Amino acid sequence: MNLRIGQGIDFHRLENGIKLWLGGVNIPSEKGCLAHSDGDVLLHSICDALLGAAGLADIGHQFPDTDARYRNIDSKILLERSFDLIRAKGYRVVNVDSTLCLEKPKIAGYIPEMKNAISGILETDLDCISIKATTTEKLGFTGREEGVVALSVVLLTK
Ligand SMILES: [Zn+2]
Repeated sequence: MNLRIGQGIDFHRLENGIKLWLGGVNIPSEKGCLAHSDGDVLLHSICDALLGAAGLADIGHQFPDTDARYRNIDSKILLERSFDLIRAKGYRVVNVDSTLCLEKPKIAGYIPEMKNAISGILETDLDCISIKATTTEKLGFTGREEGVVALSVVLLTK
């Protein structure tokens, strides 16, 4: 059995007047994630977990934010490319478990759509993708709605 585990964490600053993309889904919100790409913190954490599990460094190494090709890029494309990289090494995804940490908006109603988008890209069953959300009880930068955090763990098999 050839199993590899990977974890990824990503942070983005929230700013007014930017679209909020989480898990490949556009969520109505006053604030969105400031980033070189579309700022999809959840997909970025999954990219990092995939790349880390396969020994392929991280998203900043594979898709540098100094590269104009990645400006405002849809992070679903970054996830597809990360998946291509791990598949080229003979891996497939067993499961993904992610947690989003933000004060608002409430995202529970969007989780099925996120799981659908992610399982489609990673070629897994829907129940192999888990997305959870929590707040920090108004503590810290997430509690002050200054930023959002996503953590992901993935298991790969060959
Ligand atoms: Zn990011």
